[in-house]
Amino acid sequence: MTVTSIGLDIGGTKTLGVAVDGAGRIVAEVRRPTAPGPAGVVATAADVVADLRAATGDPLAVPVGVGIPGLVDAEHGVVRHAVNLGIGESVPLRDLLAAELGTTVTVENDANAATLGAVARTGHDDLVYLSIGTGLAAGLAFEGRLRRGVHGAAGEVGHLPVDPQGVPCSCGQTGCIETVASGSALAAAWPVAQGHPAEALFQAAATGDPKAIAVRDRFAAGVAAAVRVLCLTVDPGVVVLGGGVAQLGEPLRVTVAAALLDQAAGAPFLAALDLAGRLRVLPPEVPVAALGAALLGPRR
Ligand SMILES: [Zn+2]
Repeated sequence: MTVTSIGLDIGGTKTLGVAVDGAGRIVAEVRRPTAPGPAGVVATAADVVADLRAATGDPLAVPVGVGIPGLVDAEHGVVRHAVNLGIGESVPLRDLLAAELGTTVTVENDANAATLGAVARTGHDDLVYLSIGTGLAAGLAFEGRLRRGVHGAAGEVGHLPVDPQGVPCSCGQTGCIETVASGSALAAAWPVAQGHPAEALFQAAATGDPKAIAVRDRFAAGVAAAVRVLCLTVDPGVVVLGGGVAQLGEPLRVTVAAALLDQAAGAPFLAALDLAGRLRVLPPEVPVAALGAALLGPRR
């Protein structure tokens, strides 16, 4: 099996690396805790690539694609505001990594990388990847290519204000979708002493707890509102639910699909568009951002 590229998903807690063959299959997968700061991130990436070399027995002088949170200038390979990684001001990550690894490096926002991974996994070229993590944002692929937008803001539906009476959002507006439909909104609405708030909430709702059902359904209605905006704007073939909350898997898809059906109940126009039928959730074990990073190639 010839490895043709490496993908790295650099996150606040761990860096996940995959070696991918020419058919887009994952040949090896490794992970390590991410050391903070620009030097830590580069050192961790180098260690992960070394682990992949050991795992494949291949020197792996192949292109490396990187998905990383924060504001990413993909053209220049510069990252800033990746707060969880201890990266504040502009860091020329592409050049730093290329010097360290001795190979071609492409850097992309992690949600965009995941979008390409979802394209590869679902076989749908026109796709929206809705990342439900700390915040809420979408990656857009048209005919298999990313649509970043002129300011990199394409798909930032989390900051569409939908409720003038809502709570203040971190962005400075009031009542953004993200204040209802995100991992942090869920954690605030359903606080738990330990474990995963989304998991605890969905479990409590499944047992019939009326308060949990109300909180879950309000969250699902928010996600559904984002899906509706995206579908009415770009009309993709599928909408893939991703991000930390999507670790819930099928129960998340079913709940959001029910909210979409509910919202379309009195609207034949919306019902005919079958938004619920376009929802997908990938198995939690698929390293979708690392896979997409491996498929980045030189500027997609
Ligand atoms: Zn906002």
